[in-house]
Amino acid sequence: MKAIQYTRIGAEPEVTEIETPTPGPGEVLLKVTAAGVCHSDDFIMSLPEEQYVYGLPLTLGHEGAGTVVELGEGATGIEVGTNVVVYGPWGCGTCWQCAQGAENYCPRAAELGIRPPGLGAPGALAEYMIVDSPRHLVPIGDLDPVTTVPLTDAGLTPYHAIKRSLPKLRGGSTAVVIGSGGLGHVAIELLRHLSPARVVALDVSEEKLEFARSVGAHEAVLSDASAIETVRKITGPGGAALVLDFVGYQPTIDIAMGVAGTASDVTIVGLGDGVAHAKVGFGQTPFEATVTAPYWGSRSELIELIDLAHQGIFDIAVERFALDDGVEAYRRLAAGTLRGRAVIVP
Ligand code: NAD
Ligand code: ZN
Ligand code: ZN
Repeated sequence: MKAIQYTRIGAEPEVTEIETPTPGPGEVLLKVTAAGVCHSDDFIMSLPEEQYVYGLPLTLGHEGAGTVVELGEGATGIEVGTNVVVYGPWGCGTCWQCAQGAENYCPRAAELGIRPPGLGAPGALAEYMIVDSPRHLVPIGDLDPVTTVPLTDAGLTPYHAIKRSLPKLRGGSTAVVIGSGGLGHVAIELLRHLSPARVVALDVSEEKLEFARSVGAHEAVLSDASAIETVRKITGPGGAALVLDFVGYQPTIDIAMGVAGTASDVTIVGLGDGVAHAKVGFGQTPFEATVTAPYWGSRSELIELIDLAHQGIFDIAVERFALDDGVEAYRRLAAGTLRGRAVIVP
């Protein structure tokens, strides 16, 4: 089968021909119907050899949708022919965190060698993929896999980040979204649906600001040297109740801290270049603000998102690419010219 693999440190990913996998005991084989391309792929492919821990060659793709085509021995609870999306942050399934559905925070995954698909295990950018357990599948019924697959990460990560801050988003409050890309645009839609907050989006070009407004941002502001002042004019002296930073570089973290209000949540989702930091302390952090850096989301939250998708609340922006054009999708992602999420349709 065809796959898109990262084969050499520092090189572009490439389309390769590899053996079609067969499901082992307890596993499920999916025929992939759609797979999303995430900026985190770009991040891991930018890592120097000594920091790269995902194995080579790596079949990319941690956002996957597919149809169940074969069950491994003993795999039960899902039928052949079911259309599903894949919950990516696999955990052990039995520890306290996993029992809450928070497999993204499984403390045993590392020691057990459990890795998410596309981030260690073979991912979704292929014609077929193996999922380690039926519990990591969420049926999607008649939803379009292409517009639904981004919910597994571009939706799940902001949903998890926003849910924990909902009590702070009262009428009259402001939520700031920095970076209106794959994750950011879904964050804007979720904030509009789940909260009464005014949503202010930031990005680096007029096209992106127009995009942010088109998915529901009340205001869109250029992320430049005057961004703090501009956003502060919108929020008033109280500042923002929630800032979601989907970029995570030093300039955006500084904006996040500069626009956050007293007792706000500053939530840094973007990986940036891995070296940026929030300055925390008296006179640095807004009084009683909480700074956090969450990772992905829980199984139950993905089920909730699929329910919301059935209610029709999302308008997920996707740009479609054939598997053969997957490398181009990564180039567009790196160049920052995508509108929403790039989705590979094998
Ligand atoms: P993306 O490329 O689709 O979106 C990033 C957006 O940020 C783009 O619209 C870009 O124009 C904008 N941007 C770039 N520099 C900016 C700046 N200085 N100010 C404002 N906007 C700026 O990326 P994505 O796939 O949505 O991922 C966003 C980030 O989240 C990445 O860093 C990714 O690695 C990370 N991520 C984290 C998690 C997690 O669990 N913490 C999960 C998924 C992705
Ligand atoms: Zn991702
Ligand atoms: Zn666990």
